[in-house]
Amino acid sequence: MKMNLSLEQRQQLATLLTYCREMGGVDFYRGQNDELSPEIPVLSQPEPTPATLAAPLQQSPTVEPFPTMPTKSSLLTPPPVIDFSTPAIAPEARSAALDAIHQEIGDCTRCQLAFEGRHTIVFGDGDPNAELLFVGEGPGADEDIQGIPFVGRAGHLLNNMITAMGLSRKQIYIANIVKCRPPKNRVPEPAEANICTRFLFQQIGVVRPKLIVALGATAATYLLGSKASLSVLRGKLHDCMGTRLIVTYHPAYLLRDPRQKAETWKDLQLAMKFLHLSPPKRANS
Ligand code: URA
Repeated sequence: MKMNLSLEQRQQLATLLTYCREMGGVDFYRGQNDELSPEIPVLSQPEPTPATLAAPLQQSPTVEPFPTMPTKSSLLTPPPVIDFSTPAIAPEARSAALDAIHQEIGDCTRCQLAFEGRHTIVFGDGDPNAELLFVGEGPGADEDIQGIPFVGRAGHLLNNMITAMGLSRKQIYIANIVKCRPPKNRVPEPAEANICTRFLFQQIGVVRPKLIVALGATAATYLLGSKASLSVLRGKLHDCMGTRLIVTYHPAYLLRDPRQKAETWKDLQLAMKFLHLSPPKRANS
């Protein structure tokens, strides 16, 4: 049966197909009259025997409904745990390991964000051997152009936060929950986040930071597999993938509500204590 689909419908279908394959599902697009390929076994009906004829009628197998995107809550799964008993990738090989992940992502069309105005895939930035790894939500307009996370106004504030911790951007690693800019900077959809975090988790597995800082609710949700609010999650050390994680406000939120900067500084001090960092000395002190 031929169907005339609009461009948008075709893109949605392509996304759904890719999504189902990524989740380990099967292709579902064969029509009833399509020829089955040889690798798909055709179940033949057994010849009736006296025993089967006497048996009560079996219910016919139920037909699965047309697959739809899973609901938000059904997709909230915690990230895989890094097995710290396995040897880490040698420090000098981590950059190449990250490059390999980047290559695997390719010119990604695994989710809808590929078709919604993205210009550049923003992979991640920083030291492949960093002890501290920041995770944001997703690229904004500046990042989408430059291909580097946190280079806009929020990035400028994040740089100041990093400097206040006595570190530089070169010493840390930064990535996002999704690598493509959501249109109008909307929050990533769960399906988009769950497809994309597979690569973030691989990046974390290569870097093996001592501490992850989740910037904002979206990062906290997908890294911890929890929908708890920031007020519940802040102020403590969490386990994430076998390493430690703290939660703080997203710099973009701090630009809108600078009163929360003092609270953020408390969170960063918790991180500094854990990493045995002291703030930089002032020039006149
Ligand atoms: N906001 C994010 O969450 N990530 C970026 O890279 C930039 C802004």
